Amino acid sequence: MSVYAQFGLEPIINAAGTSTRVGGALMHPAAAAAMRDAAGACIPLDRLQGAASRIIAEATGAEAGYVTAGAAAGLTLSAAACLAALDIGVMDRLPNTRGLPNEIIVSREQRNGYDHALRAAGARLVEVGMNERVAGAGVRRTEVWEIEAAISERTVAVAYFANPDSAPPLEEVAALCRRRGVALIVDAAGQLPPAANLRRFVAAGADLVTFSGGKGLRGPQSTGILAGRRDLIMSVALQHLDLDEHWSTWDPPQNLINPERLRGFPRHGIGRGFKVAREEIVALLVALRCFVAGDYRADIARFHANLEALADDIGDTPGLRPCILGAIDEDRFPILEIAVDEQRLGLTAFQIARRLKSGTPSVYVGEGRLHEGVLVLHAIGLDDAQIRPLGERLRAVCANS
Ligand SMILES: *Cc1c(COP(=O)(O)O)cnc(C)c1O
Repeated sequence: MSVYAQFGLEPIINAAGTSTRVGGALMHPAAAAAMRDAAGACIPLDRLQGAASRIIAEATGAEAGYVTAGAAAGLTLSAAACLAALDIGVMDRLPNTRGLPNEIIVSREQRNGYDHALRAAGARLVEVGMNERVAGAGVRRTEVWEIEAAISERTVAVAYFANPDSAPPLEEVAALCRRRGVALIVDAAGQLPPAANLRRFVAAGADLVTFSGGKGLRGPQSTGILAGRRDLIMSVALQHLDLDEHWSTWDPPQNLINPERLRGFPRHGIGRGFKVAREEIVALLVALRCFVAGDYRADIARFHANLEALADDIGDTPGLRPCILGAIDEDRFPILEIAVDEQRLGLTAFQIARRLKSGTPSVYVGEGRLHEGVLVLHAIGLDDAQIRPLGERLRAVCANS
């Protein structure tokens, strides 16, 4: 019986993927075991983050790294590091940035709900470019000169939300940032796999890159990774760690924090509320190691097998047309798209998604293309044993139309 039953709850069948609202990916078994073991022993968090920094640096090619409370917390800490650098007076003031350089430049077409995480540190977003394609009024994307024209003495960073179609090219934005002495923050939360992306954004010149721990890495949902420049990661650590210590007795790991660069000892910073527990850090590091070792390739094969079995199961159902995206030898997780013949079924994709959720067992699917009459199914939140009941629910919902 499920552990949730004692609270009167039934687990869902999660075909919606790594979305936080449905709990995200199923944790890698090695990460879950490490979490349980780490919970049974204590470790100072600065030492653990010092070890994490080395492991993340090795995996990403960055100078340093840090485990955050998710990629969104990674964005807030990135902004805080760019705003304060190693000035402990500014660390103490955040999110109050009155009178200080506080602008982060972002392309208008990349604005999204997660940029609240940048503003939370006290940054003001300055939008550049147009959104002409979505407006149907033009063919061009944001261009590098538009970012450059917005740089001023008030600028602390450029934020860049990475996906395979992001524009302008990251390398060009990084070259601009280096030339103008402005930090470049990259949100790559959902960009794993491919594994090459662990190093790609750092290699392209990003100063800080954030990844989710609970998406493709299959670590704890509440974790994330920051990889980047040593001085910025030191600022992140100082604004995140619990600092209720005596300066004279504190001996932080040298690779993470160099006290000689500080003119005093800061109090708890803006990131103190984004704490990450030792067992979460350990589990994330184990998940990262498994990912780097290539475990996710076995996931790709298993996800294919599961989605193919599901596609076969519903293949004869009138009104549903399944199609798998992503080949088995591609370095990405496959997706099953189910096109709904809304006329034939007398049901819209929205109605089907709603019925799937409200029935038993409750099924959640990806909702990003419901308006086109398409259900999007991911395998990363599905147990092998849930494939058959998922097919049954899909067939039952469509049979009762
Ligand atoms: C998922 C996501 C985040 C947030 O990641 P968490 O690890 O859930 O905090 C931020 N940015 C983008 C683009 C994402 O897809």
